[in-house]
Amino acid sequence: MNESLKPYTSFKVGGSADLLAMPGTAEELKELLRAASEYDIPVTLLGGGTNVLITDKGIRGLVVITTHLKSDIRIIGSSPEKSLVRVDAGERLSTICRFAATHSLSGLEFAAGIPGTLGGAIAMNAGTKTGDMSGIVVDLMVLDTKALTFQTIERQNLDFSYRDLKVPGIIVAATLELKPADQMVIEQTFKQNLLLKNTTQPVSVASAGCFFKNPAKGMPAGELIEKSGLKGMKLNGAMVSDIHANYIVNISNATCGDILTLKKHIEETVFNTFKVKLETEVRVEGES
Ligand SMILES: Cc1cc2nc3c(=O)[nH]c(=O)nc-3n(C[C@H](O)[C@H](O)[C@H](O)COP(=O)(O)OP(=O)(O)OC[C@H]3O[C@@H](n4cnc5c(N)ncnc54)[C@H](O)[C@@H]3O)c2cc1C
Repeated sequence: MNESLKPYTSFKVGGSADLLAMPGTAEELKELLRAASEYDIPVTLLGGGTNVLITDKGIRGLVVITTHLKSDIRIIGSSPEKSLVRVDAGERLSTICRFAATHSLSGLEFAAGIPGTLGGAIAMNAGTKTGDMSGIVVDLMVLDTKALTFQTIERQNLDFSYRDLKVPGIIVAATLELKPADQMVIEQTFKQNLLLKNTTQPVSVASAGCFFKNPAKGMPAGELIEKSGLKGMKLNGAMVSDIHANYIVNISNATCGDILTLKKHIEETVFNTFKVKLETEVRVEGES
């Protein structure tokens, strides 16, 4: 009851949840939702909390965190061309990347260094320049939050777009398609991608990754922010990273208010300089 959400997010910002639950199985999740609906309690879902900003007033109702929703990663089908891998939604993406490399399976190298869970990565269609989750998802098992039934949704019926998926419920598991390949090459690519990320992004400071989506054309968000002269700008404990300008970092007990004020200033300055409207990638959750 009244549990601080700071430790459950990578931004380390925000207030408390009235109620917090971490179900260990899909059935437990379903029972939680049933109880919440019976008592008319709103439910907010978090995976690894690496793409969210929680407001200072926190979240009313029940926050469900999926990180315990995991079991063994299984190869459920394989041929010389492909392997199908079944994973629960609460599994960490980094663990799945390691599993893939160990089993000489290619397809997840783009995800090197992306924190969070599989469910969050699919819901965000997480990715980099070299790929995203939409390229490897075969199907999802989803819990319909109204009917409280599980259903399998095939890839062709999923509406993926840039850093988004219209998720028709809570993802509880997914089948991924990976391709057999040379283990040395896979590991080398993982290493290179990780090195690139670690040297060009502030990965060891509290943040939620890139704050804004890259516009469909023209300069990426980071370049627009940097060329607007905002790199390194500070507001109390929040700062526009001096390593990568599309990261807002929490350098010293920033509040959500600090971060949202800085975000507004970035949006206005970029618009006044380049006439480009930035769109937020990080999801703001909680009472405003
Ligand atoms: C240092 C750093 C680097 C990052 N680098 C990248 C990057 O290179 N590329 C990139 O795309 N992102 C990046 N991110 C952002 C983030 O890691 C990804 O978006 C990640 O996939 C989010 O997963 P999560 O489990 O933390 O989701 P959360 O932040 O917990 O949730 C994100 C959204 O997904 C929803 N969600 C979570 N789980 C489920 C589920 N099971 N079913 C339905 N909806 C669900 C939540 O309700 C929320 O709306 C980075 C973040 C950090 C902190």
